[in-house]
Amino acid sequence: MNKFTPIIGLEVHIELSTKSKMFCGCSSDHFGKAPNTQVCPVCLGLPGALPFANKEAVTATVKFGQAFGSRINSFSKFDRKHYFYPDLPKSYQISQYDMPLCVGGAFEDKRIRRVHLEEDTGKLVHETINGEKSTLIDFNRSSVPLMEMVTEPDFHDTVSIIRFLKEAQMVARYLGISNADMEKGSMRLEANISLSTEEGIKKGELPNYKVELKNINSFKFLEKAINAEIKRQEEILTAGGTIHSETRGYDEVKQTTYSQRSKEEAKDYRYFPEPDLPPMRFTDGEIEEIKNSLPELPKDKRKRFADKYSLSNDYIEILISNPGRSSYFEEAVSLGQNWNLSAKLIADLMINKKLDLQHPEPAGLIKKVVEIIKVEYSDGSDVETAVNEVVAEESKAVKDYNNGKGEVVGFLMGMVQKKLKGKGNPSMVREKLLNKLNER
Ligand code: ADP
Ligand code: MG
Ligand code: ZN
Repeated sequence: MNKFTPIIGLEVHIELSTKSKMFCGCSSDHFGKAPNTQVCPVCLGLPGALPFANKEAVTATVKFGQAFGSRINSFSKFDRKHYFYPDLPKSYQISQYDMPLCVGGAFEDKRIRRVHLEEDTGKLVHETINGEKSTLIDFNRSSVPLMEMVTEPDFHDTVSIIRFLKEAQMVARYLGISNADMEKGSMRLEANISLSTEEGIKKGELPNYKVELKNINSFKFLEKAINAEIKRQEEILTAGGTIHSETRGYDEVKQTTYSQRSKEEAKDYRYFPEPDLPPMRFTDGEIEEIKNSLPELPKDKRKRFADKYSLSNDYIEILISNPGRSSYFEEAVSLGQNWNLSAKLIADLMINKKLDLQHPEPAGLIKKVVEIIKVEYSDGSDVETAVNEVVAEESKAVKDYNNGKGEVVGFLMGMVQKKLKGKGNPSMVREKLLNKLNER
């Protein structure tokens, strides 16, 4: 019995790998750097410091939106979002409120609401110093460009959620705008969850609450956390209870979600336009120019690979998972044509034998494959000996062949291969066998 349907909307944060930070000249490459070495008055929020917007980050966000079919606003602006937390030195975050860079878009049947640009916060580091639990702050990450994609509440199961998120990750990597690594925190996920009833769905009404799951750092945990939260809500609703909107985290040990804080609303943030930054304007021509600079996207590559190489969907997904791997494959296929090596064989050698790891250049892989084929196949005289033996031993099958039963050739080839321990080159075995049979 499925009384409830999960209604889920996603918020995805992706840290952009631009050279400098969002609103100052500090390096945005903060990962593994000594604490507080990549900071300045702007990203430390010192009074009087003036921000200026990073064009590279703006372009990257536009590209990402375009990859999902978003409309790019010809006029957009930054806003201040106020809240207090020690990792936020200005006590407001520069974000985008009602005029984001990108609006709409979709991946398959899942609708994207918007993609906007904001700045990341600093990082709290919890350490025990002289036996005392202390919290330190590292501002290296403060003001690193952070792109946020928000979807409509169009998801009902974790399979489609993970598919969507992997696509977002892949697109960011294809565009070269972020490594979108979850372990490094360059990609962070939030899921908003509520449960609807059949009646609610029929009326097209959303539940009047939603629970936001936060601080989830892998696809696997997201899946578990969502399922745990769905179960919790189901139990409450089945027992006749009500659920209030709040932010919850996931306890990996207990495999349950736990309350973090009650949900704040937009009015709590006191949004207002950032007075220190001019609005952003794009002409149609500029928007078109950025669009024309996009590389082949995963969805197009997927389709092209299916048409051109007729491989299984699983193989295609692995091969296109990053642009480096797919171009390696395509180069290897093109080189392999000289030896009649099929796309399927090359895909196999990369995926199952991982030969691409041993040979960083496709040419090296092809050279190796050609060697293996030569070494592995028995030479012509061994094949001839085996054919002669089989023809002598299998007199009944040979007689059948002479009486017009062509299908015994397959059986005889099998017997030859058995003697050769499978090392006969099939076309050579066939040719020599037929020569022998037809000479009689
Ligand atoms: P807020 O203003 O509180 O952040 P939004 O309406 O902007 O809320 O939506 C934030 C996210 O929550 C979006 O991803 C949206 O799809 C999702 N969402 C909105 N309503 C619901 C709901 N009833 N159940 C699940 N997700 C929802
Ligand atoms: Mg939110
Ligand atoms: Zn700075």
